[in-house]
Amino acid sequence: MKNAHVLIVGAGIGGLTAALALQRSGSKVSLFEHAPQLGEVGAGLTISPNATHALEYVGLGDFMARNGDIPEAGASMHYKTAEVLYHTQRGNEFKKKYGAEYYQIHRADLHTALADAVRANDPNAIHLSHTFQSFSQDGGTVTATFTNGKSYTGDVLIGCDGVRSAVRTALFGAESPRFTGQAAFRGLVDAEPVREHIVPTPSATSMGPGRIFTRYFVRKRKLVNFVGIARTSEWKEEGWSIPATVDEMLSVYGDFNAHVIAIIKSTPPGRLFKWALFDRDPLPEWRKGRVTLLGDAAHPMLPFLGMGAAMAIEDGAVLGRAFEAAATVDEALTRYEAARKERTTMVLLNSRKQGEIYQSDDPASLRGTTSGELRLGLFDYNVKTVPV
Ligand SMILES: Cc1cc2nc3c(=O)[nH]c(=O)nc-3n(C[C@H](O)[C@H](O)[C@H](O)COP(=O)(O)OP(=O)(O)OC[C@H]3O[C@@H](n4cnc5c(N)ncnc54)[C@H](O)[C@@H]3O)c2cc1C
Repeated sequence: MKNAHVLIVGAGIGGLTAALALQRSGSKVSLFEHAPQLGEVGAGLTISPNATHALEYVGLGDFMARNGDIPEAGASMHYKTAEVLYHTQRGNEFKKKYGAEYYQIHRADLHTALADAVRANDPNAIHLSHTFQSFSQDGGTVTATFTNGKSYTGDVLIGCDGVRSAVRTALFGAESPRFTGQAAFRGLVDAEPVREHIVPTPSATSMGPGRIFTRYFVRKRKLVNFVGIARTSEWKEEGWSIPATVDEMLSVYGDFNAHVIAIIKSTPPGRLFKWALFDRDPLPEWRKGRVTLLGDAAHPMLPFLGMGAAMAIEDGAVLGRAFEAAATVDEALTRYEAARKERTTMVLLNSRKQGEIYQSDDPASLRGTTSGELRLGLFDYNVKTVPV
């Protein structure tokens, strides 16, 4: 279907990927972002081969090859002893097996590249300082209204506005995301002072009772991104940017191996953050008429499989393919949801289960096993060839 006018709410990684895929399929896109400026937090992101296929589909293959870090291997380690419980060969091995690279990248770098590509196609596509409020639709059009009083009419509206999606509330009513009993710390530190602690592989996760600690390089091995995810019932604050202190993180990770402790201790003031993790139960349907959801708005999930952004990116590419294949908006949205619901529901539910596996009270029981992503075959999915 060519020349549809698609309204997208939310210029995160999901909304921008969808915008690019739709522009590629011949649609006009108007993207509305609540923030006054585009940006992403200073943190890393794993782009697994399934997500790389989707970024290649929207034209960012070269960008990823230039800017992504490729960890040749990953280690899953005992939290206390640093024993490698299992080892995953990545790099060339993954490229050969899945036909696409496994990258790690700074979130802001990918976000900027997506936004630049959308604007290169249409300099007026992105509207900042637009907070979605409500929509109305009739047989032929949909109109989105924003808190600044402006309204825009198009053929279809895609809610890409994250875990607290206002479009989802407008579609299906208010229902709070579920606190998962997990909280996360994140930091981004200079690699040089801690290089001796980046062993035995460039990417690694230490697993302990109720806690994991993952770290990997970004920006061509100049920075180390780390994330600690720990069970907690104590605090439930949201947002990616609540300041935390080294002492606070050490009070949770103090019994981890010396490499983990050294990386945490190297974090300069103001570079450590914490937040609580929320998800939602799978929705029975994503759509009403000309309005649907994408990314975290449709299926927010725990990060234990590292797949939240990957699912949003896949959604975006498949949405573009659905518009390319369909004759009408109705057909495009039906094809999109049919192609995406089963996979994202499976990944959402398994992300919960994977937390229990990785945060086992007996990490030694993980010896000789494999990662959740590989066990579930998540990298086998290719948006370029999957039926849509
Ligand atoms: C600790 C942690 C680590 C992770 N690591 C990985 C990883 O390695 N790999 C991976 O694939 N995923 C990872 N994820 C998941 C990933 O970050 C998210 O799934 C992804 O960002 C979802 O993208 P999105 O575009 O759907 O939503 P978001 O990134 O939340 O973007 C939503 C956008 O909508 C805007 N918005 C919100 N409300 C409104 C409104 N009312 N009107 C207009 N605009 C609005 C926001 O400002 C924002 O720009 C991780 C998550 C966590 C918590």
